[in-house]
Amino acid sequence: MGQRCKGCGAVYLSSRRACSRCFAQGPFEEIPLSRRGALWVYSIVHQSSPGVPVPYVVGVVDLPEGVAVRCNIIDVAPDPARLRFGMPVEMTTGVSQQDREGNDVVAFYFRPVER
Ligand SMILES: [Zn+2]
Repeated sequence: MGQRCKGCGAVYLSSRRACSRCFAQGPFEEIPLSRRGALWVYSIVHQSSPGVPVPYVVGVVDLPEGVAVRCNIIDVAPDPARLRFGMPVEMTTGVSQQDREGNDVVAFYFRPVER
């Protein structure tokens, strides 16, 4: 879900206190965002926090609504030969880790769209 400024139509991924385009302090309305977008840019991470397996792919995905989503790209080898700018991707969810009580923590990811 995204937030759209009712004054100017700017769309944001997370909730906002003010619009950075028209500076209005709302109102905002919740709108559904597309599950599919395009990989605008990516990076292959080779060094991360202790315990985080590397390499992995992070990217910025552009959605048709004008929102840029920063996220991990999964289900693709961390290899520039397998990734390209503008490639179609789709959102998915998965367990990223367990919390201190052992509960699964679910996160969203993007993965290449099957051709
Ligand atoms: Zn606005």
